[in-house]
Amino acid sequence: MIKILLKRGEEKNIQKGYPWVFANQVASESILVTEAPGSLVELGDYRGKYLANGYLDNDSKICLRLFNRKVGRLDKESFKKAIESCLHKRSKNFTEPFYRLINAEGDDLPGLVIDRFGDYFSCQFNNAGILAHREPILAALTEVFLPRGIVVRADKTLEIIGNVPEAITIAENELKFSADLISGQKTGWYYDQRENRTRIAELAQGRRILDVFCYSGGFGISAAAAGASALTFIDSSSQAMELVAKNLKLNGVSAPVSLIAAEVFAALDQLTQAGDKFDIIVLDPPPFIKSRHNKAAGIKGYEKLLKHTLPLLAPHAHILYATCSHHMQMHDLCKVIATTFKNTPHTIIGKYGHAKDHPTHPHLPESRYLNAVLVEV
Ligand code: SAH
Repeated sequence: MIKILLKRGEEKNIQKGYPWVFANQVASESILVTEAPGSLVELGDYRGKYLANGYLDNDSKICLRLFNRKVGRLDKESFKKAIESCLHKRSKNFTEPFYRLINAEGDDLPGLVIDRFGDYFSCQFNNAGILAHREPILAALTEVFLPRGIVVRADKTLEIIGNVPEAITIAENELKFSADLISGQKTGWYYDQRENRTRIAELAQGRRILDVFCYSGGFGISAAAAGASALTFIDSSSQAMELVAKNLKLNGVSAPVSLIAAEVFAALDQLTQAGDKFDIIVLDPPPFIKSRHNKAAGIKGYEKLLKHTLPLLAPHAHILYATCSHHMQMHDLCKVIATTFKNTPHTIIGKYGHAKDHPTHPHLPESRYLNAVLVEV
């Protein structure tokens, strides 16, 4: 196995369990040039003392991704064992086969995401190092599940293996949703918000819901099934609106519905001018912070968005604000809420993260990307 040593003093974080090594931490720089992405590596400190195993991802600033466990081989059998272990964990939490099966670093398979949709699977290979193991990973997945179809996303390419229908019906919180694995967003469905959707449903009886950045309508439709009196959905994607319409039908929603396919600020201004008020507002925007360097600008964006909802809040309204930027931590989100609501009395009802099929890595704060705060005004 290839051996890589760290520069002196760079081992402290790794000894504490941090699973990423950056190129500037490595003493054996020449190896980063000569070896192929995905190569299995044994990492040592500057004296050569063993620290962990990982795989190379030479093209990336994070040149080495480490495993929690001691990995001796990266072949079909070792991936099969890892997939079976995740299946075992998910089976304890879920009675139906609809969940994130593999959550990258959180499941000790860095860079690999696999969502399960019954007999169909949606895989994302997030870097060149894990992509180098595409064949044994897909062979292992096939042996464990005998899938009817697999969608594979890697480096902006998409490949379909077997037969994958355009619409797959999934079950979530006793509701049905249509997911589009091929031309939909990300893997086709946002499983990470499952538990937050339940939290909104619990508050929804007889209330007017505004689902902003709704995608296929997971929040609003969960609220409708729990007795919401009226629903308004906003998303700039017309494809998303078609999915909402389909999902409203699938669940026999009878409450009045308004679908607004428009850019968010235009849509919120339109509702404000019409004098509309809502009892529950869900804000689930795409990430506003793409890198550490634009964090301040991103935070301003989150404040601006929240500020635009103020005129729409009915007395005693609830607002769930979710952010999914890796660089936005829970305390940053709480600060955005405190700043924007500084002249509006409010309380924080709860602080939440992703659903339980999105385990986070214990020593990688970046693996907790979803933060959500429920506020009552
Ligand atoms: N709440 C959804 C997931 C939201 S993903 C769920 O529970 O499944 C973010 C959504 O924001 C996407 O559907 C995207 O189309 C939409 N979006 C991105 N930029 C937007 C903008 N400027 N205005 C309105 N919608 C936008």
